[in-house]
Amino acid sequence: MKNYQCKKCGIKTERQPNAFNCRAGTYHDWNDLGEVGCENYRCKKCGLLVESKNAPSPLGCTAGGYHNWQDLCPIGTDVYQCKKCGILLYASKSPNAFDCPSGGYHQWNKMN
Ligand SMILES: [Zn+2]
Ligand SMILES: [Zn+2]
Ligand SMILES: [Zn+2]
Repeated sequence: MKNYQCKKCGIKTERQPNAFNCRAGTYHDWNDLGEVGCENYRCKKCGLLVESKNAPSPLGCTAGGYHNWQDLCPIGTDVYQCKKCGILLYASKSPNAFDCPSGGYHQWNKMN
């Protein structure tokens, strides 16, 4: 399985994508982000969260230019939410606290 993101509307899918019904107009323009895996990566620019094997492809950031990927944590069964930016993650340990989009550090709250 691979992660795909549409460069036009920003939607992400892990299935072989269908080109139709792009919200941004007619056809989706899919960007291959790489193999699906068990690490949470988040782009510091566009905020996209990807469950990837390795750092995803930097191409096609919807915020412009290249994605700036941050490795947050391995995927697990614990649910963490940042009290500041609201991002929700499945993690096996407390995620990386650096670079909360709301400023400063993420404040992770274990939900389960
Ligand atoms: Zn699209
Ligand atoms: Zn990005
Ligand atoms: Zn945060």
